[in-house]
Amino acid sequence: MTDAAALVPYEEAISRYEPVIGLETHVELGTVTKMFCGSPAEFGAEPNSAVCPVCLGLPGSLPVVNRAAIEYTIRIGLALNCSIASWCRFARKNYFYPDMPKNFQISQYDEPLCTDGWLEVTVDETLVRVGIERVHLEEDTGKSLHVGGATGRIHGADYSLVDYNRAGIPLVEVVTKPIPGTGALAPFVARAYVTELRDLLRALDVSDVRMEEGSLRTDVNTSLAPRGSGAWGTRTETKNVNSLRSVERAVRFEIERQAAVLDGGGRVIQETRHFQEGSGTTTPGRSKEEAQDYRYFPEPDLVPVAPSREWVEKIRASLPELPSARRARLQAEWGLSDREMAALRNAGALELVAETVAAGAAPAEASKWWRGELARRANESGAELAALPVTPAEVARVAELVASGTLSDKLARQVLDGILAGEGSPDEIVAARGLAVVSDDTALLAAVDEAIEANPEVAAKVRSGKTPAAGVLVGAVMKATRGQADAARVSELILQRLTGS
Ligand SMILES: [Zn+2]
Repeated sequence: MTDAAALVPYEEAISRYEPVIGLETHVELGTVTKMFCGSPAEFGAEPNSAVCPVCLGLPGSLPVVNRAAIEYTIRIGLALNCSIASWCRFARKNYFYPDMPKNFQISQYDEPLCTDGWLEVTVDETLVRVGIERVHLEEDTGKSLHVGGATGRIHGADYSLVDYNRAGIPLVEVVTKPIPGTGALAPFVARAYVTELRDLLRALDVSDVRMEEGSLRTDVNTSLAPRGSGAWGTRTETKNVNSLRSVERAVRFEIERQAAVLDGGGRVIQETRHFQEGSGTTTPGRSKEEAQDYRYFPEPDLVPVAPSREWVEKIRASLPELPSARRARLQAEWGLSDREMAALRNAGALELVAETVAAGAAPAEASKWWRGELARRANESGAELAALPVTPAEVARVAELVASGTLSDKLARQVLDGILAGEGSPDEIVAARGLAVVSDDTALLAAVDEAIEANPEVAAKVRSGKTPAAGVLVGAVMKATRGQADAARVSELILQRLTGS
């Protein structure tokens, strides 16, 4: 067996072999109804409640193309710089699967709606233009539930149930061209591409792009060839990888595994593989050498799709600002370097900072709180930054209180403590905890006089000209005001009292 998990350490593998990657991403579209019928395309409904004769494949029922799904797919194609077909057809892909009631899937084969585009990603300050081969539409299948076994798989199950709610949900597949020349960056390019695609789809408002719920999943292709050989190796296809981190790990593991196969004089088998979240490994699935012939033919129950040029241009004109353009604009507005911008993005803080700035904070302040104090808190609790129980509006209010002199940085951190502990709004916490900086001179002078009275020897030293000794008195006032006084102002008041200057 070539799969006895023999691995070559990553750096060594990459020093001798050149990887080529490719990514096929499936996206559930967020349309109101299904691809070819009027059944609701909603999640979480009672099993087999969101169905009709068409998506159940009952005899005599006929599909009708969902115009919104076509429009969404054109939006995606345009945003990915693709050409949009002026005429294309759906195709019938024939195979049996228990959760696919028609015994065929309506897909697109040799006439995809969108072709030949690109999407740019930046990794380690290296710009990579990922070619897009095609964007096509198809329908999803139903879902099988295997009951009674330990693993939830069919093996060992007592019986299986089928839910056809998902049968017929519009599914878009975005397929890249092979991506050569990324070398050691290959796993990171794969991850950056899926991240950028997810952000793009979210900006286009065509899908909820929740990877953990399966509405966006990626097949990861990896091949390896000896460095400098100019050849491409045989690729494997790791199916349905459903997190950004797993995309990166799957490529990395396949590089290490395939290098070991090639080092041992073996050959990489063209096959589909499964990613194992727990171990970070891939295991063999079905071999492509025994893959079935799907007997594709043009779907006879559907008319061709022929989007008019006017419609396509109307859709193009309605595209929102895309993530890459938005990032460039924000970076310029905020005056950040490429490195600072990349750091914000890597910390998952970009949207939070943008919302905090929109709520009125200065960009530098918004960035400071999210990347400093709050990133530290998130790290400590093992939470995502965005999952902290503090809103951008609250951070903006804290920044405003600091800017107006009501809070020092130190007090602001205590306010953030209060917000994270669920004590209320920043203003409520300032009031309840008595945190505002004491800037009223009358209150400060009382504390200053008390400190002088309690430290007569220190006061005498300051009077005789040893002004550095005043630090002791400043410390006493700060202690008496629980750190809420402005230390510089306290120092001024002490010197005024004792030296008249
Ligand atoms: Zn239906």
